[in-house]
Amino acid sequence: AKTWILRQHFEGFPKPSDFELKQEELPEPKDGEVLLEAVFLSVDPYMRPFSRVVMKGGDVMIGTQVAKVIQSKNSAFPVGCHVVSQCGWRTHSVSDGTGLTRVLSDWPQDVPLSLALGAIGMPGLTALYGLEEVLQIKAGETLLVNAAAGAVGSVVGQLAKIKGCKVVGSAGSDAKVAYLKELGFDEAFNYKTVSSLEEALKAASPDGYDCYFENVGGPFSTAAIEQMKQFGRIAVCGGISMYNDVTPQTGPYFQLPMIFKQLKMEGFMSVRWAHKDEESLKRLMGLVKEGKLKCNEHVTAGFDNMPTAFMGLLKGDNVGKAIVKV
Ligand code: NDP
Repeated sequence: AKTWILRQHFEGFPKPSDFELKQEELPEPKDGEVLLEAVFLSVDPYMRPFSRVVMKGGDVMIGTQVAKVIQSKNSAFPVGCHVVSQCGWRTHSVSDGTGLTRVLSDWPQDVPLSLALGAIGMPGLTALYGLEEVLQIKAGETLLVNAAAGAVGSVVGQLAKIKGCKVVGSAGSDAKVAYLKELGFDEAFNYKTVSSLEEALKAASPDGYDCYFENVGGPFSTAAIEQMKQFGRIAVCGGISMYNDVTPQTGPYFQLPMIFKQLKMEGFMSVRWAHKDEESLKRLMGLVKEGKLKCNEHVTAGFDNMPTAFMGLLKGDNVGKAIVKV
């Protein structure tokens, strides 16, 4: 079995020398255990900030994968079934079933299993819960989402359109902006090339924004909060523009616009609504099957390229969900 180790904590932007590919001998599965073989692995932005919190140098990189059960001494996970496992960057692993979830039992043949790491997995649930539980978005409202061409953002925009909202998205290339238009976003702009974020946000929605789905943080937030409507709501999902900072960013601070506009801001993690996951995944699958939720994937081939895929994600190489296919 192969694993990717974090050699030492990242300092600034991750670099190839932070990672090491290692071979590992696995024990034979005991009673109650299964042997898993990775099929698709996910690279996600959270790995950058979480690695510092939950890992130490020498640990296997954290992460989720879709794996196939290739040996089983656990009747809940028979040979041949697919599971979502949190076992990290490994080609093979032995599990006693704790924390494993079976991919929806009626997963259709024509839907790629990799979507269990994307639109019909954690990023899709994050989009759904952020919109419905945190923002409690309603038809007719205007929503702003950044990192909009990514795994979470692209689902956020499409779900909000389905709900009858006006949707504005920002992304870091003209190709991504064109993709957002294809997905049905009403307005989209390239935050890297606009001369002023404030002007771009105003032009996209002169009346301002009811809801803001925040994935980026930093100066984008400052500009967006200034454009909120009275009683606007902000769901803080992520702050990717700050994940690689060596020195924490400081101000400007947004207390004053928060007060004058009487805004509500709430941070969240999708695991808060884990009790709804099964029903929510079925809803997301239904939308994919009906063709209402489109999912692009940015697939990197080969387990050996995990660090490349991860660094590419943080640079913005991906349109849609970044995945590694073993
Ligand atoms: P994405 O697929 O959106 O990939 C990350 C994207 O972030 C890149 O493609 C890039 O797109 C953008 N990005 C990178 N650096 C910057 C920067 N400096 N400024 C602005 N944008 C940048 O990832 P996910 O959809 O998986 O995650 C999106 C956000 O949601 C992240 O902040 C993540 O941490 C958060 N998240 C939170 C969860 C929760 O439960 N709270 C769960 C899952 C994700 P571009 O070309 O547009 O710059």
